[in-house]
Amino acid sequence: MTLEKVRRELKAIKGKRYWRSVDELADTPEFQAAVEREFPGSAQEWVDPVSRRGFMKLMGASLALAGLAGCTKQPDEPVYPYVKAPEDLILGKPMYFATAHPFVTGAVPLLVKSDQFRPIKIDGNPEHAYNQGSSDPFSQGTLLDLYDPDRSQHVTYRGENREWAEFAIGFRNKVISTKDGTGIYFLSETITSPTLARQWRAVQAAWPKAKLVQYDAAVAGTALEKGLNVQYSLADADVIVALDADFLSGAAYPGFHKLVREYADRRKLAGKDLNRLYAIESTPTTTGLKAEHRLGLRASEIPAFAAELAKAVGVGGVEPPAYAWTDEQKKFLAALAKDLKAHAGKSVVIPGLYQDPTIAALAMAMNSALGNQQAAFSIGNQENSASIASDQLSDFKAMVADLNAGKVDWLVILNANPIYTAPADLNFADAFNKAKLVAHLGSHVDETGQIAHWHIPAAHYLESWSDARAYDGTVSIVQPLIDPLYGGKTAHHFFQALLDEPGLSPYDAVRETWKPVIKGDFETGWRKALHQGWIEGTAYAAIPPTAFIMGGLSKLKVSAPAPKDAIEIIFRPDPNVYDGRWSNVGWLQELPKPVTNLSWDNAAIVSGATLTRLGLEEDDIVELCVGNGKVKAPVIVAPGHPDNSVTVHLGYGRQFAGRVGSGAGFNAYQIRNSWAPFYATGSIRKVEGKWGTAITKSHFQDHRSKMFGGQGNGNNSLEADEALGERGIIRYATLDEFKANPNFASEGFSREKTDLGTSMFPNWDYKDNAWGMSIDMNSCTGCNACIVSCYAENNIAVVGKQQVRIGRNMQWLRIDTYFEGDLAAPRAHFQPMACQHCENAPCEQVCPVGATVHTPEGLNMMVYNRCVGTRYCSNNCPYKVRRFNFLLYSDYETESLKLLRNPDVSVRSRGVMEKCTYCVQRISAAKIEADKENRAVRDGEVVTACQQACPASAITFGNINDKGSRVAKLRANERSYQVLADQNTRPRTTYVAAVVNPNQELEEAPVEHAPAKG
Ligand code: SF4
Repeated sequence: MTLEKVRRELKAIKGKRYWRSVDELADTPEFQAAVEREFPGSAQEWVDPVSRRGFMKLMGASLALAGLAGCTKQPDEPVYPYVKAPEDLILGKPMYFATAHPFVTGAVPLLVKSDQFRPIKIDGNPEHAYNQGSSDPFSQGTLLDLYDPDRSQHVTYRGENREWAEFAIGFRNKVISTKDGTGIYFLSETITSPTLARQWRAVQAAWPKAKLVQYDAAVAGTALEKGLNVQYSLADADVIVALDADFLSGAAYPGFHKLVREYADRRKLAGKDLNRLYAIESTPTTTGLKAEHRLGLRASEIPAFAAELAKAVGVGGVEPPAYAWTDEQKKFLAALAKDLKAHAGKSVVIPGLYQDPTIAALAMAMNSALGNQQAAFSIGNQENSASIASDQLSDFKAMVADLNAGKVDWLVILNANPIYTAPADLNFADAFNKAKLVAHLGSHVDETGQIAHWHIPAAHYLESWSDARAYDGTVSIVQPLIDPLYGGKTAHHFFQALLDEPGLSPYDAVRETWKPVIKGDFETGWRKALHQGWIEGTAYAAIPPTAFIMGGLSKLKVSAPAPKDAIEIIFRPDPNVYDGRWSNVGWLQELPKPVTNLSWDNAAIVSGATLTRLGLEEDDIVELCVGNGKVKAPVIVAPGHPDNSVTVHLGYGRQFAGRVGSGAGFNAYQIRNSWAPFYATGSIRKVEGKWGTAITKSHFQDHRSKMFGGQGNGNNSLEADEALGERGIIRYATLDEFKANPNFASEGFSREKTDLGTSMFPNWDYKDNAWGMSIDMNSCTGCNACIVSCYAENNIAVVGKQQVRIGRNMQWLRIDTYFEGDLAAPRAHFQPMACQHCENAPCEQVCPVGATVHTPEGLNMMVYNRCVGTRYCSNNCPYKVRRFNFLLYSDYETESLKLLRNPDVSVRSRGVMEKCTYCVQRISAAKIEADKENRAVRDGEVVTACQQACPASAITFGNINDKGSRVAKLRANERSYQVLADQNTRPRTTYVAAVVNPNQELEEAPVEHAPAKG
């Protein structure tokens, strides 16, 4: 079936239809094959040397190095008691320390769990005003990054092991010999630490000719690097407009944690009016797919659209370039402008980070014209997470010119990897070789570390002292939780080595910075800051939009869009591995990306129409060209992608990332130039071959309706073409429909009312706790933070690309994405799906050895020791949430990874079934505490790992027997429903149906939302 036919069929459908992939719509043989075999081929990889090598390559960082012959027994290990136990240590009782993950878009305040002085779980600091306990996939992934066995472990000079002192003395002497710093260049990642900025200023004062260049590939060229800091508050915004601003997907957008929370607070219908989100975007994101109204435009069209919008809402002095907008685009613009004006003072326009700078100015002008000062404001001191404002691209280019001119004696690279990330047009590798000496501080011997003269291992942020500002300006002290595993150093050591007290430790340097700021007794204030995780009084003060943005508006020149038939290539940091810094983190590599569900690769992402026009099929290899650069990439389709536009994610195609990341994907930096860092006109053409991408969207559907007669409803599977109707996997209504019928989510679903008497099994009387979960479909933005948190908490193994390709990824929790509507303009629903802990669990009834059983508190549990691997349980599970350990995925040998494990959760071996336990270890810990105090477990005392990470508070867990508990109230909510309730499984996880708030002027003819009567 062609895509054209798919679109015609979609158009012909009356009412709604959900789909999870283009393959599913097209009903390709590949899709059929994927869904008809729940357990695809089992053993052939052991005789195929290529895939066997691929599997073994991965072992070192997240998988097994030993036991490949089939050993399923953990190796014997001696256990020694402490001769003298550390004073603070109570075995089995973890400690928690406040720290922060320093990140270029703003530090993420954390509370890190430490077991026997090993950090084993990262979560947001629940008491911090900025993120209130939430986190994100990047922050979660940094834990595996700490224990990555491929981190560099030695100071080296031309490949030989040396000592730090030798380097530090030589470095200091060299700088002293220059008298003024001439010829000394520092190339650093963006400096986010106020102490590091202070140290640099001191270095500059002492050595005025020394130069600092900051370069972060994902930030260079954005407003962030220049210290511009306009902040947004969505708490009171009734209408939100995202101008290519992906603020709901992840921490790549500044303020993600706060913005998601505020957005989701207004989606819960809990005493606050529903907001309305519009997204105009150049590449499909979860922000766009959550929006009530989404307009896909090519990136170069968005500044012109923003200018039209600004003019329409009354901003003076803006001259939009002439452009032939379609009727549909004009209609969208008119309705949006009208809605914004109707919500003047209660709306907000948010500009994209990777857009033309004119967008930021236009957005601020619109917010000002609309009186949105409550929702969009500058911060008092014009400083943001980048502690030293700079123009990174210009500075980098100037440094390359100096390198080529032979002016650079020492190039000291601090936590940057420019050989990999530098713009292609600057030929940085050639310039690099002209420096007389290069020293590289890095966590890995990466592409830059390979050819630098000196390499110094960098300490991880969980190993070292520093400081950083969160989005709201609050300063957190970055305190270490473990001694450097490999004696790593930080940028603080480098700058301090040039100052009067070269031996001053980062700890003392950080204290010096904050002595003048902490009020009252310093030691008391310092201890308080460490304990709570922030320094009082350091949050930014808000001020109205500032003159420097407004003043430039009359001179603003909005560039004209590229010709309509030109192919535009868009560059974005990867949602999982960002700019490539987390390429070797297996959790993030394997995590299916939002929207595409692509794992272990990046791709050339296009629209269905562009794919057809170019005569391509998904997974074909294409050649992308921009300027003089060329790169080969697999092509895939993303629903809603603008035509004649290709999205590529940075961060792949690494040569020296480590055993996990090296060789994954293609290197998009090869076609990214300094003159167009975020989008450029280019070309795409088909070349020979197929890539072999691993995409998980057709996994976990068994498609039995097709297998057993094409009945659609009435069979046992969880699949998109059954998402509507009486099975109602996805249920939602418009606000008006909800007001007319608050019970829309349960009315008509007669099978859901199955009463307990219909089961052949006797009912269990839950006297104390009956655990349950509720998931709010309106709040979930599909950000994936919950999945990575689940990885860390539950010692979940990474299986590698080849295993993912055959459907064996081990994630206990997944986000099912159901698309709806036209292929070119879909809406999507994100549904977190894990074990539903069915009261009437189909898995329990078929296990021949009683390995999956029910607990007296209603948990569906696996007894690993009993499991013999028949997999009947998974076969009988309609939700497809059980994961079978086909191979020995867990690594029992690598020393550093032993430190990573959560000791409260077993590390599973080959041949057992595993799945979500509702974090039973956390339940047990809470029960032990409650028992000691002779009381019941309090509501909110058990927080599951997924719940803890979620920035949208979409997940609620607790005791459903306690009618006052939050989860019990949510289950009693009129919008609460069960997935596949007709199976009489009686799941303990329920969902709260979504309510959307569309603008009637943009709504298509009303569709029938009411479910079929069952
Ligand atoms: S439930 Fe998971 S995917 Fe959804 S918003 Fe929360 S953390 Fe993100």
